[in-house]
Amino acid sequence: MRKTIVAGNWKMSGNHIEGAGLAGNIAKGLEGKSPGCEIVLIPPFTAIPDVVRTVQGSIVKIGGQDLFYEEEGAFTGEVSGAMLTALGCTYVLVGHSERRHVIGETGDILRLKLGAALRAGLNPIFCVGEVLDEREAGKAADVVSGQVRDVLGGLSGSDLAKVVVAYEPVWAIGTGKTATPEDASEMHVVIRSALADLFGPEAGEETVILYGGSVKPENAGALLEVPDIDGALVGGASLKAGSFLDIIFSVR
Ligand code: PEP
Repeated sequence: MRKTIVAGNWKMSGNHIEGAGLAGNIAKGLEGKSPGCEIVLIPPFTAIPDVVRTVQGSIVKIGGQDLFYEEEGAFTGEVSGAMLTALGCTYVLVGHSERRHVIGETGDILRLKLGAALRAGLNPIFCVGEVLDEREAGKAADVVSGQVRDVLGGLSGSDLAKVVVAYEPVWAIGTGKTATPEDASEMHVVIRSALADLFGPEAGEETVILYGGSVKPENAGALLEVPDIDGALVGGASLKAGSFLDIIFSVR
């Protein structure tokens, strides 16, 4: 039985005071409720300590938006997996499309980052997704299964079990355009079959795969009821406690 996760990626939004305020409002909205999913907040690095303190005692888990692949040393500006676990993080994003397309991270880098996350005891949320040109050229399935094979291919089965995959079509991120539940479902099946080819049928069946790309309260219900979609990675709509809570409570 796969778990359902709703994760909020705050990107580079808000300082630590605003982050604590948002986390506090989300935690308050969850008080006395039993959501049908695990909830992960992914604040900017600078807000993590305050957010961790704010949600202490609640069911909310915390993730980092990125990590470096070395454990320590002369790497100015970078943050290691161990630094994130020391703050209380249990998840970390690897390969978000903004890291791939704005910062220029390649499959080689992402493979190293994924390994570093696992060594630090973090659960990587590994993001894959095609750009619009690739979708329009009918290449979405090949691109996304290629990303899965390239970065996850060398893992052991036990490491794969710690990885969450997020399918995030790049053309749907922050654009207001969402994949239809049918399109998203088709791509989740593509990812499951790539995983089954690499690791066997159980891995294809058991890996948690989230959908991300302009998920909002208005479309969350239809996306989250697709059997192969195990939750949502939410950007913009996670920056308001009310809309993030509405998405959480649309999990049935
Ligand atoms: C994201 O940042 O992972 C994301 C899906 O953003 P948005 O929900 O704003 O499209």
